Amino acid sequence: MSESCAVPVRKIIKALPKYVPGARGSAGGQFFKLSSNENPYPPLPSVLAALADGALEINRYPDLTASELIHSLAEFLDEDPDRLVVGNGSVALLSHLMDAVLNPGDEVIFGWRSFEAYPIATQIAAGVPVLVPLTADARLDLPAMAAAVTERTRVVLVCTPNNPTGPSVHADELEEFLNSVSDDVLVVIDEAYVEFVRDEAAPDALAIARERANVIVLRTMSKAYGLAGLRVGYAVGHQKIIGAIRAVTTPFGVNGLAQVAAVQSLRAVDELLDRVEAIVQARSRLVAELADQGWELPDTQANFVWMPLGERTEQRAAEAAAAGIIVRPFSGEGIRVTIGEDEALDDFLKLTATWL
Ligand SMILES: *Cc1c(COP(=O)(O)O)cnc(C)c1O
Repeated sequence: MSESCAVPVRKIIKALPKYVPGARGSAGGQFFKLSSNENPYPPLPSVLAALADGALEINRYPDLTASELIHSLAEFLDEDPDRLVVGNGSVALLSHLMDAVLNPGDEVIFGWRSFEAYPIATQIAAGVPVLVPLTADARLDLPAMAAAVTERTRVVLVCTPNNPTGPSVHADELEEFLNSVSDDVLVVIDEAYVEFVRDEAAPDALAIARERANVIVLRTMSKAYGLAGLRVGYAVGHQKIIGAIRAVTTPFGVNGLAQVAAVQSLRAVDELLDRVEAIVQARSRLVAELADQGWELPDTQANFVWMPLGERTEQRAAEAAAAGIIVRPFSGEGIRVTIGEDEALDDFLKLTATWL
């Protein structure tokens, strides 16, 4: 094997931050994985049955435009199919969006800390990330994000609820923000956790996207619908942007089994949303018990809680791992803990009681 390779790769590649997946724990050990905001419920039997049928056709290419899935989503969301596109997870759609609208050097604004895929996708698409610090209570600072817009700004990413901190933006502040941003700046509302939101002040992003041609909504079937392993996300917005995403995306980006499982999940949506409600109830219990222990944490509207542990972060994450609970540490900042099985949350609460 040759020692070295003379082919140059783009300079940016070496400098990219790495996407850190939630740890999976050591093989053979008994542990709860609360590190990736996954759904703790196993797949629905009806979804497994649809997958078994779908498996009989894996020698064929899937439907290029995922037309049945698009049709099901259009009906479910009451949207025109031309305003919808599906992708290999919403992270893929995010990258396609950037590829479709960014010219080299264009700025992309987002809160920080927020979803770790944002700086990566921005830089791969030759954009320049502009990080705007969160407020003291771990919310997106929309006025500061509006103030950060320059002539070079092409995209603003609004993650709501914000991963990893939890709060949702409010309709009034989002409206004010959108009014202040020029209509040639694309505002992406990333609603990966929207099904878990119970904050009545939260915006109706789909309605906003119908009113404003510069707003695109990203959603995923990975979290609430429990299809993280199959990779299905969707984007909703103006046909021009949706068409541009379609133009840059790799053909057959959503595989056949993913399409089948997503269509069946929309048929079984009531059953899945019952599970979401149970996760929301478990969240309420966890939040209340943490408050009783004396923790003051940011509001969470997602399927996780954020504990800003600062310098203790790595140590606490290691202690949790030793107790069989894998959480997601953000070094020097805090841990994000997914709302998982009741037993996992009980074990976690025993631990947090010793941390104060
Ligand atoms: C999980 C997540 C996504 C996307 O997940 P996919 O599995 O790629 O659909 C997008 N945005 C945020 C903020 C997320 O947390």
